[in-house]
Amino acid sequence: MAGEPQDDCLFCKIVEGHIPATIVRETETTVAFRDINPQAPVHVLVIPKAHYANAAELATEAPELAVDILRETKAVADEDKLESYRIVFNTGPGAGQTVFHAHAHVLGGRGMQWPPG
Ligand code: 5GP
Ligand code: ZN
Repeated sequence: MAGEPQDDCLFCKIVEGHIPATIVRETETTVAFRDINPQAPVHVLVIPKAHYANAAELATEAPELAVDILRETKAVADEDKLESYRIVFNTGPGAGQTVFHAHAHVLGGRGMQWPPG
């Protein structure tokens, strides 16, 4: 059920504190923590505390949380003093999504190429 914690979800376990993470920010509705396998000097994941499978489900089922996520990406960028950064929502396995709890990647601290791979 959209929004409900899922027993088999890694990021729900991080929200619940059952799996440790380096948390950089927390709000009533979101958590931001450092990616375990960083792809840039700054690589933070911003997630809703509620479980939605991906950005598409979040946008449809809880658009107010999508706004919260976007606001937090800016806060993360400000805290890490990033002037330029990239926000990525991998959506679906074909786009590289491996954890099916919606999350924004905030990547920065190095130059970025376009188009992405
Ligand atoms: P996706 O590939 O789904 O867009 O992104 C999932 C991200 O979660 C990956 O960048 C991966 O490194 C990160 N990740 C996977 N497991 C863990 C974990 O246990 N802790 C943290 N902090 N990040 C994780
Ligand atoms: Zn989850």
